[in-house]
Amino acid sequence: MIELLKNLIAIKSDTEEGANEALRYCSTWLNSHDIEHTVIENEGRLMIHAEVGTGPSTIVWNGHVDVVPGKLEQFNPVIDGDKLYGRGSADMKAGVAAMMEAFRRISLTPEALTHRIALHIVTDEETGGRKTSGHLVETGYTGDFVICGEPTHLKLSVQSKGIIHVDVTFNGKGAHGSRPWEGTNAIELAYEFHDKLKTLPFYKVSNAYYEHPSVNLAKIQAGDRYNMVPDTCEVAYDIRFVPGQKWEDIVQEMTDLALSLNKNTVVKPGGKTPAIVTTEDNEFVKTLAIATADVTQKDAVLFGQHGAADTRYYARTGAGAIEFGPAGDDWHGPGEYVLISSVEQYADILTKHALS
Ligand SMILES: [Zn+2]
Repeated sequence: MIELLKNLIAIKSDTEEGANEALRYCSTWLNSHDIEHTVIENEGRLMIHAEVGTGPSTIVWNGHVDVVPGKLEQFNPVIDGDKLYGRGSADMKAGVAAMMEAFRRISLTPEALTHRIALHIVTDEETGGRKTSGHLVETGYTGDFVICGEPTHLKLSVQSKGIIHVDVTFNGKGAHGSRPWEGTNAIELAYEFHDKLKTLPFYKVSNAYYEHPSVNLAKIQAGDRYNMVPDTCEVAYDIRFVPGQKWEDIVQEMTDLALSLNKNTVVKPGGKTPAIVTTEDNEFVKTLAIATADVTQKDAVLFGQHGAADTRYYARTGAGAIEFGPAGDDWHGPGEYVLISSVEQYADILTKHALS
């Protein structure tokens, strides 16, 4: 399995063609183990669907082989003790390799499975996931419970925050820079707005997994010359909200604040993604927690993820969808690695869970 992982890391899959090449490598590997599967194409992107077993419900293992851009040397896997370095080692070729290995194992005794297990390998998670995971779900390939093998240190991420992007345009009044009192400085309006944003009620919402939503001031555009009072200032926010919060309420609070500072302000909501909640008493969360504790000899830990993943597409169908994968660090960074022992444990947990 670690050989399989190293071979996957060595494929420079930070482009569409590279990701497709990695996908074809997975297909060749599955063929070499006589595992039936389909390679599907959508908008130039390839994906794999495979299925084994019968039963009342379907568990989907989802993994992506595309990676964020990396330096050339990162596509040369390097082992140092328990650490395996390389772009995509943690995010998430380790998850994919372990899912393939676990799928190979359970395919040897399909009669022992009490559920159907589906394997989805996809190629566009890092660029939104719509073309492959989104496509699979849209065309009916989904399940009752979905595990996305993102790196989570073998903890079960049962929630993820929702996303709302908000653009705010402050329209002040221009004036000569020597007489600022004759104008309304739009940058200063934005400054005041940002200063007060975290005092709004929406920012105080918490639950067992999150202390509060997150607010990222992502873009700011304003100002031209020293001797002019800027008349417009555009700011863009990326807000990640706690499950249960409504993005409409957040936008309303922001609008009320913005208008209280200046009646010409325009607040516009943009892209949105709902929060994901899989309850702790979901039967598959319970059985997966047991399998995890069995293999690691430690109590399973449940937590809430800050970012979003392909879970979002499956969750739309009402499926339980969690992120659960091996341990590593610095994914998307220069020193990305995965712990080899955790990849082995991960494959054991998936196998055990499928057979439980
Ligand atoms: Zn990922």
